[in-house]
Amino acid sequence: SHTAAIIDGKAIAEIIRAELQAEVAQLKEQFNGYTPHLAIIQVGEREDSSLYVRMKEQAALKANIKITIQRLPATTSQATILDAVQALNDDTTVHGILVQLPLPAHLDEKSITEAIDFRKDVDGFHSANVGQLAKRDTHPAFVPCTPKGIIELLKRTNVEIAGKRAVVVGRSNIVGMPVSHLLQDLDATVTVCHSKTTNLEEIVRSADILIAAVGRPNLIQGSWLKPGVVVIDVGTNAVPDASKKSGIRWVGDVDFDAALPVASAITPVPGGVGPMTVAMLMHNTVESAKRYLKGFKEPTHYLS
Ligand code: NAP
Repeated sequence: SHTAAIIDGKAIAEIIRAELQAEVAQLKEQFNGYTPHLAIIQVGEREDSSLYVRMKEQAALKANIKITIQRLPATTSQATILDAVQALNDDTTVHGILVQLPLPAHLDEKSITEAIDFRKDVDGFHSANVGQLAKRDTHPAFVPCTPKGIIELLKRTNVEIAGKRAVVVGRSNIVGMPVSHLLQDLDATVTVCHSKTTNLEEIVRSADILIAAVGRPNLIQGSWLKPGVVVIDVGTNAVPDASKKSGIRWVGDVDFDAALPVASAITPVPGGVGPMTVAMLMHNTVESAKRYLKGFKEPTHYLS
């Protein structure tokens, strides 16, 4: 009987990392040691944030991208963080700036995100970049990493996008909203669903390409899927599992086992979208470094 192809995000991310490593080596050789440089600011010591920052550090080191991490105490003031961002904006050797989110509650995440020079905004969260993403016939300096990774997975597994029906479940700034713009830009017909959508099952059943970015374990059932659908499951949900040493196991938003006999291809959780996100951050950093070489040398402060 039929079984969906597994889209191996881990393997594809490895390939991208190798490509980037070669590109970085070439830049260094051709331009006298010139090295893409990513700067990360982490405020506080949230365990999940520390894990993500370490993963980014590992990925940068593997690709020979320079990485600088500023770890600031959880009590750091808004003004101090804005100063740190400004210093990185002004530092012409820095090509990518990332402030690890979420920030402690006393800080204003929005104004800190907007303070980053949009030409170094490798997370793609600055309004200038989001606006360009949404506009017809314009392109942002950077696309957010998870949506960019999703598109890269579709492209590298030769999934046709133009003319297809894409359904995105979730409308967050980080995943749902930007991936819907990217799919539309690639000529898919896109429907975005969210918590107030009334006939989710029926809409999901219309999808040729389904992007699930909700954060609810197994919300989407196998019986909801159209035969042959390509499923990209962004959801990363911990569920209790007594058979594991950690006591938990990771599952997506789509019932994976039930989707296998119906879908044509599906990403696993973990090992699907997750590894791509970090690889795309490295890709954005290298892209930025190449752009700086071409003349983006004097940082200006957008909207200031
Ligand atoms: P989020 O900000 O919490 O957004 C969740 C979205 O799902 C919202 O738009 C919400 O609707 C919608 N939603 C909630 N319940 C729903 C329901 N019953 N039916 C339909 N829609 C529903 O989450 P996020 O940051 O986008 O993340 C989504 C998931 O992806 C999480 O599991 C997260 O851990 C994972 N994630 C993974 C990666 C990766 O690299 N692998 C990266 C980012 C996120 P409303 O807008 O109406 O509230």
